Amino acid sequence: NLYTTREPALIQPLIDAFTKASGGIKVNTVFIKDGLLERVRAEGARSPADVLMTVDIGNLVDLVDGGVTQAIESPVLASVLAANLRDPAGHWFVLSLRDRVLYAAKDLPLTRFTYEELADPAWKGKVCIRAGQHPYNTALVAAKIANDGVEETERWLRGVKANLARKAAGGDRDVARDILGGICDIGIANSYYFGQMKNAAPGSDNRKWGDGIKAIRPTFAKSGGTHVNVSGAVVARHAPNKANAVKLLEYLVSEPAQALYARGNYEYPIRANVPQDPVMAELAPLRIDTLPLAEIARFRKQASQLVDKTGFDD
Ligand code: FE
Repeated sequence: NLYTTREPALIQPLIDAFTKASGGIKVNTVFIKDGLLERVRAEGARSPADVLMTVDIGNLVDLVDGGVTQAIESPVLASVLAANLRDPAGHWFVLSLRDRVLYAAKDLPLTRFTYEELADPAWKGKVCIRAGQHPYNTALVAAKIANDGVEETERWLRGVKANLARKAAGGDRDVARDILGGICDIGIANSYYFGQMKNAAPGSDNRKWGDGIKAIRPTFAKSGGTHVNVSGAVVARHAPNKANAVKLLEYLVSEPAQALYARGNYEYPIRANVPQDPVMAELAPLRIDTLPLAEIARFRKQASQLVDKTGFDD
């Protein structure tokens, strides 16, 4: 029994492939848009959930802190996933990566960028981004804090705020839409939306937005790494089918499953040898910021407070 906050269309192909590869382990999928932790908590010891799947390192850590997970010992997960991509205590496991990239108007003479440059006055009135309080941005701000400290991050955030072309709102794809619409020149969004838009049906809005931009992997000036967030999963504390739950997680890090993540979802695979979607393969090689994910999660609250303090979303 899989509880997931991920969109049905993204997850179903992976589930079908697992059922086939496992010789018929059936997966009952419950899609839960909001309140996954609250739901499992309320169900308590009688919860039918075996696996909980979600995005964002903060959400994974919240599930662990919320007491609805259990530690798993799996030689497969331990050998496939780099130490940074799993909980040292064995509760959460990363299944795919998504870097937070720069979308830029296609004709801009830009080939490289630092997150710090978002605050450069040269971009005044030219930057689009979704709400600072959205988990994608809170994690980015938290990573900046982990790299450079709270004070420096506050200065940076005020600089980015001063450069905004419009209120920090909407979704990541709206950055591409608004670049095409001439509202802004650059913005920050997750990498997989670029793959989604560039592969959308010709003539569709998404395809038009995707074709109006290019994507560049920014780096933090200090570390030289690109900020990456994750999708991942845990085994539920009261999983009635624990052995099958572990099998599902082990399948999701396998080569065939990772190829589905890369080619179907345009996410960055956790296995180096899995080919990228051609659109994503055109981006410069990903150099992941080496900060431990748990470190980023730890600064979430301070990041959220800075977003408030700087009035970023006002
Ligand atoms: Fe998303």
